[in-house]
Formats: sequence, C-alpha cells, structure tokens
Amino acid sequence: MDWSPNECATALGDLSQKWDNCSQCDLCKHRNLTVFGRGAVNALLLFIGDSPGEDEDKCGEPFTGTTSETLMDLLEAAKIPLNWCYFTNTVMCRPPEKQKPTGFQRSICWNRLYEQIYLIDPLVIVTVGKEAMSAFSWSDGRRTSIQAEQGRWGTVVLQGKFHKNISVEYTAIPIFHPAYISRTDTPDPKTKGYIQERERPAYETFLTLDKIRECVSMLLEKHRASIKSLERNIRRGW
Ligand code: SF4
Repeated sequence: MDWSPNECATALGDLSQKWDNCSQCDLCKHRNLTVFGRGAVNALLLFIGDSPGEDEDKCGEPFTGTTSETLMDLLEAAKIPLNWCYFTNTVMCRPPEKQKPTGFQRSICWNRLYEQIYLIDPLVIVTVGKEAMSAFSWSDGRRTSIQAEQGRWGTVVLQGKFHKNISVEYTAIPIFHPAYISRTDTPDPKTKGYIQERERPAYETFLTLDKIRECVSMLLEKHRASIKSLERNIRRGW
C-alpha cells in the first residue's frame, strides 16, 4: 500500500490511540504504559521484539534503555540510518517478571501488530530475539533455534489478516536480542572492537545488519535507476 508519510503518521497515530487504553488481555494489569512503537513512518526496516522491558514500560517507547543501546550501536556500526527503522514488539504491555506472553495474549495484540505492519509496509521485517522469531509463521517451517536461524533470510506469512483469505508475505530475517548479546558478549561501544571478533553474538548481529544494509541499498539503487529511466522516457514523450 502506498501511503504518503503524512497519511501513514496520521493512521499510526489513530491506531496508537485506539490501543492506548486496551484491556483485552491480562497484561494490562501489569503495565505502567502501553508501548506502541517508534521510528520512521514508511520505514524500510521494521524491527519487532517480543515484549516491553522495564525501561520501555516506564517510558512507553520500545527499544530504549541500556540493553537497547547495544542494538543502536550495532545499527550505527553497520551504517543503517535510523530513518530506515521502526521499532515495536509483538505485545504492547510488559508481562510480569520473567514471564513470556501467552499464545492468547499474543494473538489478541497481534491484531494491532498486523495493522502496524500493514501501515508501515516495510521492505524487511527484522525479528529481534528468539521469542519474536518463533511468534511468526515462516514459509519454510517453524523456526525455534535463534543460534541456527540468526541472519538467515526467509519469508513470514501473515495469513488472512489484512484481507480475508489473502496471505501477505514479507521478507524477514532474525537477529539476536540485544539483551542476549549483552549477557553473553562484552561489547565495547567506544572502540567498536567487539565487532571484529568472530563467533560472538555482537559480531554475528553486526554481519547480519551489514548484509541487510547492503541488500536494501541495492534495492533502493535499482528503484532510483528505474525511476530515472521512467522520467527520461516521459521527457522523450514515450
Ligand atoms: S498486551 Fe496488547 S492486547 Fe494485551 S492489554 Fe496490552 S495492548 Fe491490549
């Protein structure tokens, strides 16, 4: 769907308002604030984590706080501009300590997520962490091991959610969760030295983000070239 950035921002604002005081599942009892999403409307990359953490619950914004600084550092290292990115989670409310959202909670909140995906219509969905990856239907089967799947391109299928009986597919790729990277790795954002060490989650995530940037840049370049040739043909009166 081709939305202008203004139309998209308005539609996302309306959607956010509609879900702001949601009490459709038990998670509303535990939240401080609902966490809708943040980033560029019309983003090329949609990063989807699992559920809000403590910092996100306090400020109402996803991918904030100390853990997410790791992801921001890696995006910067891979030269992915923030105006390519939008961030959200599969559920908008923070579950009680150490619990994962249940299938029911997730399914209710996904009505909002599907609409968000439809409005943003990204080139690539980046699932962040094991839980977010497993929550999607992948065209090549269930994905459960983040160690095996991190950095592997695939397609996620959103069955009949936007239009009855029509599936919508998106190119997608999983990355490690920044909390996992921080737990198992020792990133040093100042020197960026951590990105040079192989077989470490931070380095592997960096490689994946770098690969995403390269592919998206290539697609943009192709798109620009075809627009230019179309303009040239229009000028020639073809
Ligand atoms: S998690 Fe989603 S469905 Fe559940 S109360 Fe929060 S906004 Fe509503």
